Amino acid sequence: MNLAKVLKQKISPKLHKKLEEISYLSNKLNLSSYLVGGTVRDLFQDGLDRYDCDVTVSGGDVKPLAALLQSQWKCELQSYPAFLTHTLQFSDRTYLDIVTAREEKYSKPAALPVVIRGTLLADLLRRDFSINAMALSLNKNSWGELMDPLGGLMDLKNKKLKILHAKSFEEDPTRIFRAAKFLCRFGFRLKKETEAALKIAIQEKIIAKLSGDRIRLEIEKIIKEREPFPVFKQLKQWRALEQIDPKLKWFPSQIFRGDTKQSFKERAAFYLSLMLFGNSVERVKGALEKLHFEREVQDRVLENLNLARALEGGESVLKLPQKALEKSALLFLNYTVQHIGKQRNLKKRWQEYKKWIQCRPLLDGNTLIQLGFKSGPLFKEIFRRIQIHKYGGKLKNLNEEIRFVVDNFRRD
Ligand code: ATP
Repeated sequence: MNLAKVLKQKISPKLHKKLEEISYLSNKLNLSSYLVGGTVRDLFQDGLDRYDCDVTVSGGDVKPLAALLQSQWKCELQSYPAFLTHTLQFSDRTYLDIVTAREEKYSKPAALPVVIRGTLLADLLRRDFSINAMALSLNKNSWGELMDPLGGLMDLKNKKLKILHAKSFEEDPTRIFRAAKFLCRFGFRLKKETEAALKIAIQEKIIAKLSGDRIRLEIEKIIKEREPFPVFKQLKQWRALEQIDPKLKWFPSQIFRGDTKQSFKERAAFYLSLMLFGNSVERVKGALEKLHFEREVQDRVLENLNLARALEGGESVLKLPQKALEKSALLFLNYTVQHIGKQRNLKKRWQEYKKWIQCRPLLDGNTLIQLGFKSGPLFKEIFRRIQIHKYGGKLKNLNEEIRFVVDNFRRD
């Protein structure tokens, strides 16, 4: 099957031109190049445009090719010799990986593999699922030809996810996370043997053997999905999440389409807060640390949970930390209250909290300076007192706020 036309339609003209240049230079260096992995898979999906892609090269050392491309495209080149990988990074933040066709040897389950140079077939055989193990020739005489020795296209058409050998999940347990991601993203099902292998791997508690960093990377990729909850739900159903920390409970039961305007850190904090609310704050803290989430994400999650706990415990809104007014906390709480409605106390407190937020002073620091006050800790106190009065139904407009300040605070 030749996919030259589809390739042209599906990827940007800029990227297509780059692939043609790779083809030309590979030919000159007596190398063979192939587009591989997710990019080839997505050529068969509707409405999926890709900006990144992986190129696998066989027949010799790939370094001279990467160096030539770098000088031709005047871009950044990062080399990872242990993984036989070269990443070309462009100013528009897109990138292209040029990788030597390779085999991987696993010294023990769940460890990182030792990478050695191999043939294209060996390179496809080491991949996670058949749908990700197709290649597309970029070579002069066979440009656009699909190489599909492992039946990826048939599985793609039948909406099936299939591993390539029985010990695949033991070898690399991150594939369990990837399986859940692809099943949910594409609406696929596991092939029978793959499902059996997955069950065995989970029974062997294989996820517990992964490092915190490797688990976090997979969790982060899931959070980047358009709909993360179904993926976490699937992982919970497989009893995979409980292996991350046996005492940590996950609640991915909500139905929510992510807010696309959120930054990744906000999004991560939001999803983690929702899923982990229900555990003690101490336990969540320990788990996030073990997984090495970025400090800012950890802090946001803990703030959200502390705030929710404080509200739930009947803490007066007047005593809550101001920092909790942050957008991600508000979104989290709003959502929690709506969807975990059983916590009636939380609901009542939340109404109070929203009212409290609406009582922020109209008066600002500049106005206080104009009134003759010197900026300092007193400002904070003034704002707080105004807010408390407004919360109690007083101070209906800016003039009343100004009068209140003039009557109650000294300027010296
Ligand atoms: P996405 O659309 O999420 O980017 P992708 O398949 O392109 O999907 P990557 O994580 O970029 O995902 O991986 C690129 C390719 O590398 C995959 O298509 C697959 O062939 C291979 N791969 C990635 N992770 C693994 C793994 N854990 N084990 C084996 N092969 C993998």
